[in-house]
Amino acid sequence: MALSSDLTFRDPLLIPLWDKVRSGERLTKEDGHALYASDDLIGLGRMANEVARAKSGDSVYFVLNRKLEPTNICVLSCKFCDFAVRARYQPYAD
Ligand code: SF4
Repeated sequence: MALSSDLTFRDPLLIPLWDKVRSGERLTKEDGHALYASDDLIGLGRMANEVARAKSGDSVYFVLNRKLEPTNICVLSCKFCDFAVRARYQPYAD
């Protein structure tokens, strides 16, 4: 995997991390925290894009999951759900 050495970063803290990535060195938990704390989103995106292109070229992959729900009756109450029908509304359940 040949990674570019000419990436530029607004956040200088990303430079040693990029050097680690380029050398194939494993990132530490502290490195992950530094990446998360950085506000250089363009620099982070450049790093991610460079690694993705080195691994997969121009190919893009998607994961598509499908599942069949046997019913829309659910005993749970997840706040984001607009799918489930509660037991008290069972006449509207499928
Ligand atoms: S998301 Fe909806 S259907 Fe799924 S468990 Fe939560 S309430 Fe039930």
